Amino acid sequence: MVSELLKPPPLMSAKRVLCVQPHPDDMECAAGGTIALLAARGATVVYVTVTDGSWGAFEPVDPEELAETRRREQVEACRVLGVEEIAWLDFPDGQVPPGSGHVLCRHLVRLIRSYRPDCVMTVDPWTPYEAHPDHYNTGLAVAAAVLFSGLAAAHREEGLEPHGPEMVAFAVTARPNTWVAVDEVWERRTRALEAHRSQFSTPVGEVQKTLLRLQAEELARRGRAAGKLQEGVMLAEAFKVLSPLHLHCNWEAHKC
Ligand SMILES: [Zn+2]
Repeated sequence: MVSELLKPPPLMSAKRVLCVQPHPDDMECAAGGTIALLAARGATVVYVTVTDGSWGAFEPVDPEELAETRRREQVEACRVLGVEEIAWLDFPDGQVPPGSGHVLCRHLVRLIRSYRPDCVMTVDPWTPYEAHPDHYNTGLAVAAAVLFSGLAAAHREEGLEPHGPEMVAFAVTARPNTWVAVDEVWERRTRALEAHRSQFSTPVGEVQKTLLRLQAEELARRGRAAGKLQEGVMLAEAFKVLSPLHLHCNWEAHKC
């Protein structure tokens, strides 16, 4: 049956998770609760931050100093969530290159083959109205890397065996197929978010925090209404979880 073959893989069964975020704090915003839950269940979680985050301020600041600050904040957030390792690609903020054949995809293939995750988590590059190039370019490069990392002839590198992850989990998605109740880890997820003091101790940051809370409540409402979450769940995160089979020549993947 087509629908059996194309069932979304079960996110919470992942044992090794590689989280690829465009900027420091993206994963805490979109998936911090789920990451805390996965780590608490014994999954090994590794972070990859693509850019240095040096554009992330409304006030005039020294970009290099800000990048340093954000790096420290990310380390603290990862400690709170139970993340085991962090890799940094240090692309300049705002300048993640487009195209799936580029250097970022190659970096990601190498990281996937090194850490050998069963799940790669990132931001959904197909979210309508997402205007930040770092987000859609990172999401697309991750999707391509998930396809290519299992192909022995693609991006060959000495000492690294091919490895195809079982799934990719897109956060910040307009078409979720997987909901995760995060009530029990919300406090921890909030502490991780607030570790990013440069982002969330400002008036704009306060508004963003409120928005994220309201979005988690809305996702819980929708998940309950879809019969994907139990009654009583008040806070949720949501993902589009796909297998490599969905990611190529599959015109119904958006419905899965
Ligand atoms: Zn971002």
